[in-house]
Amino acid sequence: QAGSEVKVFLRTRPTANFAENLIEYVDGQTVNVHQKKDSRKGVVNNQLNSWSFRLDGVLHDVSQEEVYARVGRGVVLGAVEGYNGTVMCFGQTGAGKTYTITGASGSYQERGIIPRAIQEVFHEVDQRSTHTFRVQLSYLEIYNESLVDLLASLRGCPGAGPGPGGMAVVEEACGGVSIRGLSLHLVHSEEEALNLLFEGEMNRIIGTHALNKNSSRSHCIFTVHIESHSRTLSEAKYVTSKLNLVDLAGSERLGKIEPEGQMLKEAMYINKSLSFLEQAILALADRRRDHIPFRQSKLTHALKDSLGGNCNTVLVANIYGEAAHVEETLSTLRFASRMKRVQTDPIINQHTDP
Ligand code: ADP
Repeated sequence: QAGSEVKVFLRTRPTANFAENLIEYVDGQTVNVHQKKDSRKGVVNNQLNSWSFRLDGVLHDVSQEEVYARVGRGVVLGAVEGYNGTVMCFGQTGAGKTYTITGASGSYQERGIIPRAIQEVFHEVDQRSTHTFRVQLSYLEIYNESLVDLLASLRGCPGAGPGPGGMAVVEEACGGVSIRGLSLHLVHSEEEALNLLFEGEMNRIIGTHALNKNSSRSHCIFTVHIESHSRTLSEAKYVTSKLNLVDLAGSERLGKIEPEGQMLKEAMYINKSLSFLEQAILALADRRRDHIPFRQSKLTHALKDSLGGNCNTVLVANIYGEAAHVEETLSTLRFASRMKRVQTDPIINQHTDP
């Protein structure tokens, strides 16, 4: 698996007003976007500027099941083997990030990548009688640069609660990162895990109302922590991995309406964290760079071991294929194509202690 690139997919939210003349699917990997040139006052200008983007796959009119098969399955199976994995959804609010990562609530058919990943992890774990597995879950929200534990409300969990120092991203000796104060929940079955996901979703909604914030203004990282060791080898090695399923905050620029107060603050934090994410990604893509600026924001710091390097990383760029959103579609695709240049070198995380 060594030396693979970040895989980048494009997914379009279905709409009756799909901008056929502006967004052109050339083949399974290429999309051309045309944008009308600025028309000056009174002058009708039908000239177009055109851009072509090549990705690893275009998911146009594709079911949730197929999206999981093409985007999620490989990363999930890798995580069971001991490779870190990350699936991230990026794009403007309303483009289908939550639909892709979590799914439509209440619809089994339309469940997204997280519930399908949970199902597959437990299916794999049950198949492998030669190994003992421990599966733990955590659910982190990053809102205005502060860390929120979406599973903190659950009882019976050791180590829960932020403690005196509050929650923080902590660097580990092995080069990885962990979140101090974030609760980890041991789960034994798909059902138990799905219940926790549901709790976390509820807490996300409750927190949204309590703080009067918009849920598209935060980043959410659902993590499956997998640990395994062989039952048969006498000197058993412990293998650990993290599977991060990330719903990024809406990437749209606020543009025309001058935001103020809380909206302005949220917008500033999101713009900053997404631009730091991009900077970290560009630095990763540049093989000559040895310093990657992960610590500039909570998002990049929390994803330090999950963006490049020892990780299988997949990005889904979600777009809203309507003419009114072509500007945002272009900016999403530009971000996605920069991401494609990152090289990752996944290795199994092996150590002798649990
Ligand atoms: P985002 O998380 O990017 O803000 P959502 O995932 O909430 O966007 O999607 C906005 C709306 O569009 C939701 O009602 C969602 O169910 C619907 N939607 C998004 N993508 C799809 C799709 N591929 N198929 C059907 N409905 C979708």
